[in-house]
Amino acid sequence: MSRIPVPKAIICGSHVYKVLLNAKKTAGLQDRDNRGEVNHRTQTVAINGGCPDSQKTEALIHEAIHVADYVFRSGEGLKETQVACLAEGLAQILAGWGIEIDWPKCQ
Ligand SMILES: [Zn+2]
Repeated sequence: MSRIPVPKAIICGSHVYKVLLNAKKTAGLQDRDNRGEVNHRTQTVAINGGCPDSQKTEALIHEAIHVADYVFRSGEGLKETQVACLAEGLAQILAGWGIEIDWPKCQ
């Protein structure tokens, strides 16, 4: 298994979205049982640090897909179920290739 560091940012098009790990304080993650959220205005992706590593990885991929969908959108955009399916599939592909994100233990 190859462990890669948590990305500090998601670069998509001409935009840089900062990845926030200690994201429990964001309103969206406090009020709901979300594992992650994206804010296009502030260009941030927040990941709920309280989740198991596999869920954090899926959430990061999920939000990255939302970023790409937003930046490169050519139509109505992807449905939430499509984003969820793609994220889970890509997470499975990465795991199958032996790639995992080295999430900090103290989240
Ligand atoms: Zn979503």
